[in-house]
Amino acid sequence: MNNRETFFDEILPGLMCISSSYHNRRLNQYFLRGETIAVLVDTGTSDTPSRVIEPCLRQAGVSPEQIRLVIITHADADHFGGNGLTRRLFPFCLFAAHEQDAPWIESPRKALSERYDEFSAYGMPLEPSRADQLLRAMGAATPVDLLLQGDEAIRLAEHQIWHVLHTPGHTPGHLALWNEEQKVAIVGDAALGEGVPALQGGMALAPTYRYTAAYLKTIERLEALDAEWLLTAHYPVMCGSQVRDFLRLSHEWVQRAEQAILYVLQEAIESLALAEIIVRVKPLLGKWLNPDKTGLEYPILGGLEHLEQQTLVFREDKDGKVVWRV
Ligand SMILES: [Zn+2]
Repeated sequence: MNNRETFFDEILPGLMCISSSYHNRRLNQYFLRGETIAVLVDTGTSDTPSRVIEPCLRQAGVSPEQIRLVIITHADADHFGGNGLTRRLFPFCLFAAHEQDAPWIESPRKALSERYDEFSAYGMPLEPSRADQLLRAMGAATPVDLLLQGDEAIRLAEHQIWHVLHTPGHTPGHLALWNEEQKVAIVGDAALGEGVPALQGGMALAPTYRYTAAYLKTIERLEALDAEWLLTAHYPVMCGSQVRDFLRLSHEWVQRAEQAILYVLQEAIESLALAEIIVRVKPLLGKWLNPDKTGLEYPILGGLEHLEQQTLVFREDKDGKVVWRV
């Protein structure tokens, strides 16, 4: 299936990328075809399975009964939101996710309050229209059947063994899959380069990692794999030197963000709240398609916490508000 919106590509024998658009960015799921069973990696948002995944798989000659396992890379609306519909369309599949992200994946309400609305504690509550949109995208609450830790392996054929890796940083329980023999890594949002590009050009979102120290370790781990192919959720397929460049840019952006935070706090006359820091670092970190919706709250709060751990910045309470200073 190849129309303007949806692409379906066989990257290597038995490994397919299903690609569509979500808002103004690309959204990929992956499909692994083994000797007897097939695995789907991520389910998109609530309508992706019927709108994109099922038609693509039907065209590839895959029967719904063949799909026995769905691995969810992490607890974001555009990665697990299709679980409810997937369970109906592919009745024999089991859902697997890391045990740390599973509670959010199983409960859209919990994901909304603990992940998406985390920033309300820092004076940046989620807008009601955005909360509604996220709840719609997360679909029906669906249980996770298999709780993974990141040291498992899935054998799909003689030369198709996929190692499950725990790759935290974007979320606490982010998972990636690694095929040593083919040197292919399916990494979801484990590394996010300089941000998520918009389909029409420009940057739609900042790299939305949240836990900086873990994110940097994950990038190092992915670099050490020396993958030939890097398959992400929001970028085209990367291969060879593109993989190394992307991973290098991923950790360089973290350093740039932290330098920007330090610069802004050094220049400030008084301690600053999260929203004030974001307004000031935004022009230093890129050109944004929609400057009001950059996702910078994730890496900037992550950066502040990382700098606090190194005692380079300090958190204070100002009239019940959390603020930071150098
Ligand atoms: Zn994503």
